[in-house]
Amino acid sequence: MHPIVRFAPSPTGRLHIGNIRTAVLNWLYALKCGGTFILRLDDTDRERSTAEFADGIRADLRWLGLHWSREERQSDRTALYDAAAARLRAAGRLYPCFETEDELDRRRKRQMAMGRPPIYDRAALKLDAAERDRLEAEGRRPHWRFRLANTEGDSLAPLPTIVLWNDLIRGDQTVDAGSLSDPVLIRADGSYLYTFTSVVDDIDMTITHVIRGEDHVTNTGVQIQLFEALGGTPPAFGHHSLLVGADGQALSKRLGALSIESFRDDGLEPMAVVSHAALVGTSDAIHAVADPAELAALMDFAKISLAPGRFDVEELRALNARLLLGLPYAAVAHRLAAMGIASGAPETVSAFWDAVRGNITTLADVRAWWDVVAGDIAPVREDPAFLAAAASLLPSEPWDAATWGAWTNAVKAQTGAKGRALFHPLRLALTGRDTGPELKALLPLIGRDRALARLAA
Ligand code: GLU
Repeated sequence: MHPIVRFAPSPTGRLHIGNIRTAVLNWLYALKCGGTFILRLDDTDRERSTAEFADGIRADLRWLGLHWSREERQSDRTALYDAAAARLRAAGRLYPCFETEDELDRRRKRQMAMGRPPIYDRAALKLDAAERDRLEAEGRRPHWRFRLANTEGDSLAPLPTIVLWNDLIRGDQTVDAGSLSDPVLIRADGSYLYTFTSVVDDIDMTITHVIRGEDHVTNTGVQIQLFEALGGTPPAFGHHSLLVGADGQALSKRLGALSIESFRDDGLEPMAVVSHAALVGTSDAIHAVADPAELAALMDFAKISLAPGRFDVEELRALNARLLLGLPYAAVAHRLAAMGIASGAPETVSAFWDAVRGNITTLADVRAWWDVVAGDIAPVREDPAFLAAAASLLPSEPWDAATWGAWTNAVKAQTGAKGRALFHPLRLALTGRDTGPELKALLPLIGRDRALARLAA
């Protein structure tokens, strides 16, 4: 069976590290099994959904490389929802309610004061046609609730009713439909709620696997009943844990700063973000994988842990550095060229990349190293006499990887300096920094003229 999965964000904000994990798990599962990955924009909340956010979500997914083969917007699918709602009404599973928010609120408070759970009491089901007409004549517009299957005979009193599914990640799961209020599926303004539209779409798009956050577990209990009421077969469900910060606290308040857009602006590599999202909270160690197919091969529901995944932006940056370290020159050549890092001799840029790729966190960091080998820097000259002696010993070109060793041996023999006292002042003068790539690799790229100028003022 080829799985059909969907990622269903609401275009009420940009994507962030929390919801991208859901997207990545769905996408990888489709990739691994030769399935279909659908982007569904859950834009039934007309006030908060915007076209700009939808564009932002598409841009974020494209940047991450999460290609989708079909896109649907819920706002285009109202006719389908109208037809499904009509079927539920005809079957007596969708009923009009006229209570205002205030009335419901007071009722809930009374129930709690009496020590009862604040479940909707189904008062609207007890109204007769005349009473409904009177309420409508008063100008009240109904909202509509789904009648959960949790009663017996004519009684409206809910009984314990276990909805059971075998979760792909959490194993056997149960929700007691007898402990829930009949959910509102249609607001008084006629707009549909996600609980309903999601099921209609999942049936219509023949979704086989719903992979989403564990904040939807209770929804799943309700939605399984909705699938059944609409004559559909529930898909397999997998609920992954939510992410917490490095301090163990929920990420929800900091998500703005953890947007995919901000990672992109910070110069992080998309596959570092995707690798992190795919492997956090799993039994695999988080490591950088540049090839999506390789990452997909690792994807396995059994590896996803129930404990919350920890997200640490420093860990993501370290992962980015490791990803860059593993990239061969051919993988970055065009990007270096676009940054203006070019030389008459292409092998120079290739050797430069090999020299510096272990010393950068983001690709933009190569700029400063390119200035070291091919531009101007401010040399740090701590001991001018020592540097002058070293300058006088610089061999003539051509230089290669052996030049550094031969030269520093000569400097050592003449000045008596060794170890850090030998290497550190040379590094500071040649690069302007106290750490960096191996000078053995940098020196031939810096070349004799620049080296001389930096050693001796
Ligand atoms: N729009 C829902 C959300 O973002 C989708 C949940 C689902 O995958 O069913 O939470």
